[in-house]
Parts: sequence; structure tokens; C-alpha cells
Amino acid sequence: MSTFKAVYVTQQDGKVTVSLQDLDRDRLPAGDVLVRVRYSDLNYKDGLAVTGRPGVIRKFPMIPGIDLAGVVEESASSEWKLGDEVVITGFGLSETAWGGYAELARVDASWLVRLPQGMTLKQAMAIGTAGFTAMQCVVELERHGVLPGQKEVLVTGAAGGVGSIAVAVLAKLGYRVVASTGRAELGDYLRSLGASEILDRATLAAPSKRPLDSERWAGAIDSVGGDTLAAIVRGVVANGSVAACGVAGGSAFNTTVFPFILRGVKLLGVNSVYVSQSDRMLIWERLTHDLPLPLLDSMTQEAPLEAVFELGEKIIGGAVRGRTVIKVS
Ligand code: NDP
Repeated sequence: MSTFKAVYVTQQDGKVTVSLQDLDRDRLPAGDVLVRVRYSDLNYKDGLAVTGRPGVIRKFPMIPGIDLAGVVEESASSEWKLGDEVVITGFGLSETAWGGYAELARVDASWLVRLPQGMTLKQAMAIGTAGFTAMQCVVELERHGVLPGQKEVLVTGAAGGVGSIAVAVLAKLGYRVVASTGRAELGDYLRSLGASEILDRATLAAPSKRPLDSERWAGAIDSVGGDTLAAIVRGVVANGSVAACGVAGGSAFNTTVFPFILRGVKLLGVNSVYVSQSDRMLIWERLTHDLPLPLLDSMTQEAPLEAVFELGEKIIGGAVRGRTVIKVS
């Protein structure tokens, strides 16, 4: 086939247009490996990109989709051969490089990760950037001494992608997990992933004039930011840590320095896009052991490429539960 189907984003006179198109193969960028994309997925950032919102795409025209999983179709790299099953998360897909919402992707060989053993391409995309980030947060907490058997660990945005996988992994590892959500109706879902308690997100983020609250959280994984993050740091135990990865609830962060200087609370920033190769391998390895696949399957829905426009609006509105895999070809 000389053409391939892709979501295509252009910008003219400041106006962003997003459509599904058949593109000529010779439009593909340079790169040493050609991947037949089988699956991509839906992350918050994908929602921003496919709805024409700013903040993700830094170069036009662009094919969005920050993750992809597929099969090597051509390779000029000695590391990859025809038929290899591969995964990419991050590395600027959908920001500066064409991403996974296309039947074909030509990429840099160094971005590829071999599909972890025991996992399907679809499951790798059910994990995707969201799951990779959740595991990265867990690893960061561990490295800073937050271990099972201490006080509770809090997960915010718990019914979303990062949150759902964080709850499932932490519970599997033996932590006592409190899941904060704005969707009380998803309490049973969060308990099925391993949450021991559900906390209403408005209660958690209620404004306070106090610089410190009682010490409740041994650690936290926060994909919400804003007032939620400020509330979390007030309630972290002495020398506890918070892994902050998201802005679903806001980017402004108003707090005092007291949690940091009186309790030694650590705020750990997490960025999943550029991660060292050794950490990348470690995080995928940990996901194969510490994320129960039946739980992953239970939190995942599948949708066709054509559905990303509607789903993009839904995820920005905080109305998607768990993970969504996009079947590309
Ligand atoms: P999802 O939309 O799947 O999850 C976000 C969740 O946040 C929602 O499900 C909802 O959870 C909660 N939420 C949404 N809106 C609000 C709001 N206004 N106030 C409070 N809570 C809200 O997105 P993802 O899991 O894909 O991503 C979550 C965040 O993490 C995003 O900001 C994303 O950009 C960021 N992220 C960052 C990465 C990094 O490398 N740093 C990598 C991956 C994601 P509930 O209904 O349970 O309350």
C-alpha cells in the first residue's frame, strides 16, 4: 500500500485542524526503523492534542499519539529485525516527532523497547505512558524510603489512567492504598484494583490556612496538581515523599515551605518522556512483575482510531475510567 491512515494535525494562521487522512508513505519522516503500528492508547496529553488544545504539539504538521506498539516492517538498525514486536512511550512522540495515531511510524531505533515477555502488544498499550509513569512514581517513592508496612499511601486522580495503575501496583506490592476520586460511583472499581479506602477529592483539596496537617501519608502519587498537591504535602509524615506527575486539576501550586523544612517532606517531580535507558528497562521489568495483568485487563477498554476525537474531549473532561487502548491496524 502506498498510503497509510493517520490522524493529521495542521496549523494555519494560528488555527489548528485535526482530521483522519490517508497519507502517502513518502511523507514519513527519516528514521532507521519502520513500524507497522497495531495499537496506540489514550492519555491526557492525547486528549489535548486531538482536540486542538495547546500544550503538547510543538511542531506542525503532526501525527499525535504519544505511545505506540507494533511490528518492525523495515529496519536499517542491527538491533531490530523484521517481525520484532516493539513499544515506544515518550521520546517526544506527538510533540516533536510523529506519533502512534497512524498505521505506520518511522522512528529512531534508540526509542524502541522490546515487547516485554508475557505481555501482548495490546496490554503494552493498556499500560502506555500512564502505566509507565505510575510505575516510575512507585520506583521514585521506593528510592526515597517509602515502603509497604508504613502508614497509608495516597493516589489522586485514582480512577484515571495513571491513578488506576498506581492503585493496582501499590496494592500488589502490599501498600495500604487510599484512592482519592471525584467519582464516588467508581468506589467499587477502585476497591477491585486494591484500594482500601476511597477519599472524596473535594474533601482532600479543601482550602486550609494551616501550614501542616496531621501526619497521615507515608507517600503519595499525584496526577492532579494544584490545590490537591498543596493539601497532600501538608499531610505527609516526617521524611515522607510525594511523586508529582500531573496537572489534571491545575498547575498553580500554593503552599508554604513548612512541610519541607519542618518535616523533611520530599517533592519528587516525575517526567516520563525522557528517561535513561537503564531506568526505562527497569520500569518495564517491574511492570511485568508488579502489575497483575487480569487487573490491567479489567481497567482497559478498546476503541478504533476514529473514536479518538470524541474520547479526547472525554479524557480532558475527566470522564474516562482507567485505560483506553486504540486499535490502529
Ligand atoms: P486521566 O484523565 O486518565 O486521569 C486524570 C484523573 O484526574 C481523572 O480521571 C480524574 O480522576 C482526575 N481529575 C480530572 N480533572 C480533575 C480536576 N479538575 N480536579 C481534580 N481531579 C481531576 O489522565 P492520565 O491519567 O492520562 O494523566 C493524568 C495527569 O498526569 C495529566 O495531567 C497528565 O498530563 C499527567 N501525566 C504526566 C506524565 C509525566 O510524564 N509527568 C505522564 C502521564 C501523565 P477522578 O475521577 O478519580 O477524580
